[in-house]
Amino acid sequence: MFAGICKWLIRKNLDTEAPISTYMSSPVDTLNKESSVKEALDFLANKHYKRVIVVDDDGCLSGMITQKELISLAYSRWAMLTKEYQEELGKINESLIKKNAQIEHLASRDPLTNLYNRYKFSKLFELSHQSMVEREGVMSLVMIDVDFFKKINDTYGHGVGDRVLVAISGLFSSLLREEDIVCRWGGEEFVILLPSTNIQNAFTLAQKLRGHIEMMTVKPVTKISASFGVTQLREDDDLKSAVDRADAALYMAKTAGRNCVMQN
Ligand code: GH3
Ligand code: MG
Ligand code: MG
Repeated sequence: MFAGICKWLIRKNLDTEAPISTYMSSPVDTLNKESSVKEALDFLANKHYKRVIVVDDDGCLSGMITQKELISLAYSRWAMLTKEYQEELGKINESLIKKNAQIEHLASRDPLTNLYNRYKFSKLFELSHQSMVEREGVMSLVMIDVDFFKKINDTYGHGVGDRVLVAISGLFSSLLREEDIVCRWGGEEFVILLPSTNIQNAFTLAQKLRGHIEMMTVKPVTKISASFGVTQLREDDDLKSAVDRADAALYMAKTAGRNCVMQN
């Protein structure tokens, strides 16, 4: 075999001392064995090679590596890391979801009563109103203002006043349906949105709430009452027009002597 090759070389009159690259159709590319897997992958990708010869610092042959082998090396490392950190990533994810819910809660609730704040209420109002229009349904809005609340504060202190507000909020939450939307509008004022409720039913419900507030005691306060303004939503209403109408009804209730319900 060796003799055969020699004969062939002599016949072709070739210089056996010349570097092998002289007789190759394309130059030889090698990769140093100290290269990282990433460097090797980049090298093969840039050159569009499927495999490469690996040499040491002296240029001596160390072996050969294919793109497939490198990819499988990289993948198994990635799979190992994923497994290693899966539990940790799961925990981080869980805590982010929790934090997000807390932020969402803080941004949408009144800290004293835990009722929706005005910002959240306005968003929910828009959605409910849109749904009412689409379904050609009905919906009512009730505005509530605690009577002579300043006097409660002045007589018993701000802390007691706060407890009255919390007790009224709790009463709303216990007497209303899941779908009703209660908001602390500000100070001692509340707004309730009642989906699928016409003005008659809203009026009856407001009377019921008024009666419960009247019977309520928050020690040492013995006399608590609130005035109510009720209105039914119109198709062309926005939050401002609806609240203005309910507010006008509430004003009538105040001028009529308080502790009563008026509609507009
Ligand atoms: P009216 O019957 O006409 O509604 O009289 P009012 O005294 O209830 O109304 P006014 O608007 O004069 O007083 C409201 C008071 O509510 C004044 C304010 O200090 C008090 N207030 C507002 N926010 C809070 C709060 O978060 N806690 C307490 N304790 N008081 C509050
Ligand atoms: Mg007020
Ligand atoms: Mg008041």
